[in-house]
Amino acid sequence: MTSITIALSKGRIFDDTAPLLKAAGVIALDDPETSRKLILTTTREDVRLIIVRASDVPTYVQYGSADMGIAGKDVLLEHGGAGLYQPLDLNIACCRMMVAVPDDFDYESAVRQGARLRVATKYLQTAREHFAKKGIHVDLIKLYGSMELAPLVGLADAIVDLVSSGNTLKANQLKAVEEIMPISARLVINQAALKLKYKTIQPLLEAFSAAVKS
Ligand code: ATP
Ligand code: MG
Repeated sequence: MTSITIALSKGRIFDDTAPLLKAAGVIALDDPETSRKLILTTTREDVRLIIVRASDVPTYVQYGSADMGIAGKDVLLEHGGAGLYQPLDLNIACCRMMVAVPDDFDYESAVRQGARLRVATKYLQTAREHFAKKGIHVDLIKLYGSMELAPLVGLADAIVDLVSSGNTLKANQLKAVEEIMPISARLVINQAALKLKYKTIQPLLEAFSAAVKS
């Protein structure tokens, strides 16, 4: 029997993925939110789940420790996608990558004047590419979370972050001023595993694909 390992993160990715997995007959035997286990067996003997940090999913799949995984486009862009086949947009965990500034900051005029902006973000690659394309000069400051705080305490003029409802921005007197791109989660497959385990992976891929469409 060929066994498949799927890498997932807890939280919204797991919540949104559970129905898709179920469509493929895969139900975790423990709840990752309450269990401390990092390897979860499932209702399918040939499929197990590993629970990793969202930004680590591409790495586990790239090196083949997981055959497939589910990761946000934000994470995949930062990773670069080496060794990964990305066959399917799952249309889950949807949000937008945005530039945001304090309510009272005139972003348009700062850009028009060619000001050099300090931008705090977790998404260095995406941010660098975006501002380069627009010809905006930036000094990027790498953060690992809670980017909204940076402009409030003078660490940065602007942030690049994921926005869904916009409530976190609003609660911190920030406004979104530019959309960089829409973000959703994708299925990623190790390129070697796809060839070697094609007979097991292909039906899973089809089940996910059908579940996404319905
Ligand atoms: P960690 O919490 O481990 O630092 P993380 O914050 O990236 O990592 P999650 O918050 O679980 O992890 O986000 C996982 C994925 O969900 C992100 O990579 C992104 O694709 C998506 N996501 C993040 N924020 C939102 C949001 N506000 N709305 C919808 N999807 C989001
Ligand atoms: Mg988080």
